[in-house]
Amino acid sequence: NLSDRLDSAFKLLKGEGRISEINVATTVKEIRRALVDADVNYKIAKEFTDKVKDKALGEKVLTAVSPGQLMVKIVKDELVELMGGTETELDLSDKPTIILIAGLQGSGKTTFSGKLANYLNTKKHKKPLLVAGDVYRPAAINQLQVLGEQIKVPVYTEPENKDVVQIALNAIAQAKKDGNGVVIIDTAGRLAVDEAMMTEVANIKNAVNPREILFVVDSMTGQDAVNTAKAFNDRLDFTGVVLTKLDGDTRGGAALSIQYTVTKPIKFVSMGEKLDTLDVFYPERMAQRILGMGDIISLVERAQDQFDEEEAKKIEKKIRANKFDFDDFKTQLGQIKKMGNIKDLLGMIPGIGKAIKDIDISDDAFKGIEAMIDSMTPQERANPDIITPARRKRIAVGAGKDISEMNAFMKQFEQMRGMMKQMNKFKGMGMPGMGMP
Ligand code: GDP
Ligand code: MG
Repeated sequence: NLSDRLDSAFKLLKGEGRISEINVATTVKEIRRALVDADVNYKIAKEFTDKVKDKALGEKVLTAVSPGQLMVKIVKDELVELMGGTETELDLSDKPTIILIAGLQGSGKTTFSGKLANYLNTKKHKKPLLVAGDVYRPAAINQLQVLGEQIKVPVYTEPENKDVVQIALNAIAQAKKDGNGVVIIDTAGRLAVDEAMMTEVANIKNAVNPREILFVVDSMTGQDAVNTAKAFNDRLDFTGVVLTKLDGDTRGGAALSIQYTVTKPIKFVSMGEKLDTLDVFYPERMAQRILGMGDIISLVERAQDQFDEEEAKKIEKKIRANKFDFDDFKTQLGQIKKMGNIKDLLGMIPGIGKAIKDIDISDDAFKGIEAMIDSMTPQERANPDIITPARRKRIAVGAGKDISEMNAFMKQFEQMRGMMKQMNKFKGMGMPGMGMP
């Protein structure tokens, strides 16, 4: 699945200290695949990730997060920006404000019309009027009437009349008389984009000059949504998009494809058939959903927020000079602890959260180690090599630990330093990419 994909993208990059050409290429490929899996149109996924790649190459990586995690953060920020940054409101400044609803049959126009009417009625006190503009199926008129009764919003119908333009004009005339603040015109759709449907909606548009034209699209239609959106926008120049059926198992990649193609804001999302919830579109949430990445973003943000960059640079310098010592080790522990409960942090990483659910990792996990470092003399901390077996024994006693624990800790520390040396050697040989698996 998607989040596993991203996990493996991270794994590829684990231990890489900076974003370089080679690891960006690998991650970008994974992220592109993730986007396509989320139903983002392939061409758009490619264009998008190419753009992200250029941006990522300029980024410096904090030691607190892996480059993979940082990459996902960059991708998410770009997604959010592309999807409009923040939520967009309806323009309700006219009296009455005319809102035209358009889209394919079954996309959710009528359901959304009901939700919108209910919201404008109860939350905005706009006294909306619903107009039954789907005149070809008797059941359609009835459907809107039933919705209207449920939410106590009047529905304008002319069951005998097939002239939708005339119906719309008549409805607006009545709305002016009745003092309705908003007129919502629900229209007919067809199973595929066709000329007759387009002409009809375009005619309504020209006749009533709506303030808002909302294009309703089923998020489950995935890649097709792009073509539909383009066809409707070419004819109607709509003002916003409504993405429906997000309560299904779609990742919602259509949101990205549509905005990339028509550059119109998504104003609402629809999740379910209940009429009492109208959901504003939040680019941030959608980006996270598309990437399927759990809370990885907050993890990175928290790390960026908390991590002391100066301190990190100092330690990195010492690692490069093969001079990593116990003072540095303790500083790093402090940094990790500052970032919050360890289990919480680990739990934010997709894939890991589940695995560690039942394991007891307490913040005390570091206490023993810290006690041992604290029992060292400043000289010992700065020069780990002078710690003889006799000194180990003294340190263990001072920390209230068994000598075996002290030995295990020393062994781990030496292994760590060995790994650092190894890394430095590769870097010294000037072989970029040697660290890649
Ligand atoms: P229209 O033909 O565009 O007017 O579409 P409708 O509003 O009649 O909806 C078509 C079908 O999709 C109906 O069965 C609705 O109950 C269902 N539907 C509409 N919106 C949603 C939604 O957000 N989630 C789900 N799960 N179903 C929806
Ligand atoms: Mg309908």
